[in-house]
Amino acid sequence: MKYIFVTGGVVSSLGKGLAAASLGTLLEHRGLRVTLQKLDPYLNVDPGTMNPLQHGEVYVLADGAETDLDLGHYERFTKCTLTRENNLTSGQVYETVLSNERRGDYLGKTVQVIPHITDEIKRRIRSFEQVGNADILITEIGGTTGDIEGLPFLEAIRQFILQVGHENAILLHVTLVPYIKAAGELKTKPTQQSVAKLREIGLQPEVLICRTEKPLEPEVREKLSLYCNVPLDAVIEARDVDNSIYEFPLMLQEEGLDEKVCKLLRLETASADMSVWKKTVRSMIHPSRRITIAVVGKYVELQDAYKSIYESLCHAGGANDCGVDLQIVDAEEIEAEGAEKHLTGVAGILVPGGFGDRGTEGKIAAARFAREHGIPYFGICLGMQIATIEFARNVCGLEGANSTEFDPKTAHPVIALLDEQKEVTSKGGSMRLGSWPAVLKPNSKAHKIYAHTEIAERHRHRYEFNNAYRDILEKRGMVISGTSPDEALVEIIELKDHPWFVAVQFHPEFLSKPESPHPLFREFIRASMG
Ligand code: GLN
Repeated sequence: MKYIFVTGGVVSSLGKGLAAASLGTLLEHRGLRVTLQKLDPYLNVDPGTMNPLQHGEVYVLADGAETDLDLGHYERFTKCTLTRENNLTSGQVYETVLSNERRGDYLGKTVQVIPHITDEIKRRIRSFEQVGNADILITEIGGTTGDIEGLPFLEAIRQFILQVGHENAILLHVTLVPYIKAAGELKTKPTQQSVAKLREIGLQPEVLICRTEKPLEPEVREKLSLYCNVPLDAVIEARDVDNSIYEFPLMLQEEGLDEKVCKLLRLETASADMSVWKKTVRSMIHPSRRITIAVVGKYVELQDAYKSIYESLCHAGGANDCGVDLQIVDAEEIEAEGAEKHLTGVAGILVPGGFGDRGTEGKIAAARFAREHGIPYFGICLGMQIATIEFARNVCGLEGANSTEFDPKTAHPVIALLDEQKEVTSKGGSMRLGSWPAVLKPNSKAHKIYAHTEIAERHRHRYEFNNAYRDILEKRGMVISGTSPDEALVEIIELKDHPWFVAVQFHPEFLSKPESPHPLFREFIRASMG
C-alpha cells in the first residue's frame, strides 16, 4: 500500500479536504483504488455532539459513524464507501490507549504520548492494509501546522514515513500564498515559515499545493521551491475556483499533481481520463436556466452547516440543466416577519435536519406556506417532523400538536421519542444512526422516484412519527409512502393534493454525488422547475 499524507499551513479553511478528495478522484481515474482518512486533533471522540455552527455539518456514514464533513467530500469525489475507521480523533486515540492501560497492556511501563499515543495513531493508519480494498491511502491531518494538539499526529507521520520509506509514503502540504494588494505581490514568506515548522519536527513535504487568488509567476514558484526545499515541478498552483468545487481536480490535473504523486510513489499507470467528470462539471456551471430554492434552517450563518444538502442541490441542478440559487432563510426571521416576506417567489422550499426548538415555529410556517401555495416542499429529517406537525395542526385540527422534543407536554405528540431511545441517557453516538432499509408503497411518488420498492438510507435521529396518529393523518390526505420493513417506523410522507410535497426521516444528502445525483433531490429540482 502507498500512503499520502496531507497537512495544512498558514491558515485553516484552505480546502485541505477538497485537495485530498480531488487527488483521490484523479488517482481513481488513473485506475487506482483509493481510500481516504481524516485525523482530527480535537479531544471529542467524534463530532456528533458538536454544534454545526462551530464545526459544520456532522457527516453520517453507512455504518452509523458520525464524522467530520471532509468525509463527505471524500465520498462525493470518489467511489469509496467509508467506515468509522476513516475518521480518527485524538479523543479516540486516548480512549483506546487509556482502556489498554486499565486492562494492564502496558504493565510496568509509564504510558506516554511518545510512543504509546503515536503507536496507536500508526496502528490506525496501518489498519487499512489488512482491509486490502485500496492501493492508496490518503490521510488528511486536521488543523494547521504549529497547533500544539496536532503534534502527536505529525510525529506519528514522521515515524511512519521513515519506517515505510519515501517511495511508499509522501507528504503534501497545502498552504496559502496571499496576495498583498498594497505591494501588488504574492507573498511566499508564510509558506516558507509553515514549511520551516514542519522541518523543525523532521518532516519535509514532497509537494506544495499553493492556494492563491492570482497565478503563481515563475519567480514565485522558484522562490517557493528553493526556500521550501521542494522541486520546482512539485510546486502546484491551486487557484480559487470560480464556479464549482468540482473544477478543483481538473485544475490540479493541469498542474500535474497526480503525475508527480505517481512518480514519487513509483506507480505506473495511464493518465487520468477526466472527460466524463468534465462534462458533469460543465453541466453544473453552464445551465440553461436558474431557479431559487429556499433552505429554511437555523444554522444559516455558516456555509458548512448544511454542506451535503447544498452539494446535493447542486448535483441535482446539473442533472436537470438548471442552476440552483440558494436563498438561505433564518427560520427565526420567518417567526418574526412571516413566511410571505421570506418565501414569496421561490421555486421550492427545503427544510433540513436540526435539533432543539429554536426556530421550529418558523419552519412550521414555511411548511404551511409550501403546502397552501402548492410550492414543492422537501423535508429532511427534522423537515419531515415539521411537516407532520404542520399537517396535524392545520389540516387535522389537532391544536398544539408538536414533537415531544420541543414540547414534552403537548396534547398531541405526533412526533415522539423512538422506543429504543427511552432508556438512553448519554448523548454521544446514541441516536438511530447509519444505513437502514425502508420499503416503499407501490405507486407512491417515492416509489416512482426511486424506481425500487426497497431502499437503504442513512439516518440520524432520536424522534419519530407517532403511529397513534397515522390513521388520522392518512384520512386527511397524507400518504405514508415509506416505512421500515416491519412497518413500525414511518420513513417517508407525501401529500396527495399537492404537486410535490415529500418529506423523509433520513438524510438522502449523504448519498448524492456529482455524477449520480440522489433521485429525491433530482426530482425535487425537476418539480421546482415546473
Ligand atoms: N431532532 C430530531 C430528532 O432527533 C431530528 C434530527 C435531525 O434532523 N437529524 O429526531
